[in-house]
Amino acid sequence: MTKKRIVYIPFDQLHRNYGALKHADKEDDLIVLVESERMVDPKRFHPLRLFFLVSSARHFAAELQAEGYSVEYVQAQTTRAGLEGVRAKYRTQEIYAAEQSSYRLQETLAELGATFCENDFFLTPRALFKEWAQAQKSFLMENFYRLQRKRLNILMDGNSPVGGEWNFDKENRESLPKDHQALALLEHPYDEIDREVAARFGVSGTYWATTRAGALGQLNYFLANHFATFGRYEDAMSSGDWSVHHSLLSPYLNNGLLHPTEVIAAAVKRFEVGDIPIASAEAFVRQIIGWREYINGMYWHLGADYRSRNELSAQRKLLPLLEDPDRTSMNCLKSIVRDVQERSWVHHIPRLMVLSNIALLAGVNPQEYLAWMRNQFIDASDWVMVPNVIGMGVHGDGGVMMTKPYASGGAYISRMSNYCKSCIYDPKKRTGEDACPFTTLYWNFLAEHKDKFEKNHRMFQQLSGLKRLSDLDDVRVRAKEVLEGLERGLI
Ligand code: SF4
Repeated sequence: MTKKRIVYIPFDQLHRNYGALKHADKEDDLIVLVESERMVDPKRFHPLRLFFLVSSARHFAAELQAEGYSVEYVQAQTTRAGLEGVRAKYRTQEIYAAEQSSYRLQETLAELGATFCENDFFLTPRALFKEWAQAQKSFLMENFYRLQRKRLNILMDGNSPVGGEWNFDKENRESLPKDHQALALLEHPYDEIDREVAARFGVSGTYWATTRAGALGQLNYFLANHFATFGRYEDAMSSGDWSVHHSLLSPYLNNGLLHPTEVIAAAVKRFEVGDIPIASAEAFVRQIIGWREYINGMYWHLGADYRSRNELSAQRKLLPLLEDPDRTSMNCLKSIVRDVQERSWVHHIPRLMVLSNIALLAGVNPQEYLAWMRNQFIDASDWVMVPNVIGMGVHGDGGVMMTKPYASGGAYISRMSNYCKSCIYDPKKRTGEDACPFTTLYWNFLAEHKDKFEKNHRMFQQLSGLKRLSDLDDVRVRAKEVLEGLERGLI
């Protein structure tokens, strides 16, 4: 069978109405999905991530076939080999695709001579973001977000923001009440394809949907049950409630089963019913039209080499506790790494303020840590993880993206979670055997990099605190013990 074009659909563009499929023709085009060995390497990636990506793609291919498209789901050593094989089989040279969401795939497709349409899986065209970024002195997300609100006319009252403020973050920093009970989560039972893929990767959890119907179900479940309280407890962490009131939609937004336009439209419609606090609605909208778009824009704006930055010269190897939570007594990390192992996901605060914080404070090599994050998380697209880890998580870019490092001691974790209550360490202590490693390492980190940070006025308060420390020598002695203990998996 000869076809005029190969329409290539990567595993992160699984939406019927966007990307290359928008321009596909049932008669003339062959839809091709390639499962490359590299992408499904079980030694590298979390099995739930593999289950999710492969099962979603297989469902999507089956749905297109049922709709009358000619579809090839190819397993090959590489994406290039898969596409070349299809070219030979169908005697079709032309490859049509949407711009890819990573540098690597974009380069592969370009080398194969593909023709591209715009990647419209985001709300902000890359050229538009670049225009914004080139006009900025510093890349403040908040400035970009306000422009997005106006440009996309979301939660706007004429030229003013609904509720009178652009950002309600100060209302959204509550820890969970003592009597907090986790709500039941929506289960996503397996169908035949899921069962087959789950057996292949050895997984059993039903936390994640693998179809558009399932993803829409999750969106509706969030809006009905968690939206009202999402904002208020957005930053809270709990050993007894892994998702708190988070939407759990990032995997679907990142593999294309949901498009940000439809998620935002549903959220705004729900807000307009009148019983959702503006602080919640605004926080949710900000994550999607602000953060998500900003991170993708920065990924492309900062260039392919950005991932290699290591301005703090952090050279420590990946900490054993990240691979094995039994290699630490730090209750927060033990609990969070277990959560990652069980579900391939934790929300943004454990990612930033616990996992990335320990990597930053311990001076873990940014590229090793980036690889770990990329491999472990279900929603870890390259465009998400590179700026989030290098720019935000471990300050590897020296302040290009964020004006100061997200470093903190145990006090923040203690305030925002219940982890410290049953920990052998004390978040208030910075010296002694029971000192919280976060607290010790925080001061040690500031002392180590103070020459660099002194030029940064946003670090003034932290460095003033450092100057007031009377026991800095003892802190540094304890920090050395802690770092050695972390390296050996004994802290
Ligand atoms: Fe984590 Fe420190 Fe709290 Fe223990 S005391 S749970 S190590 S922040």
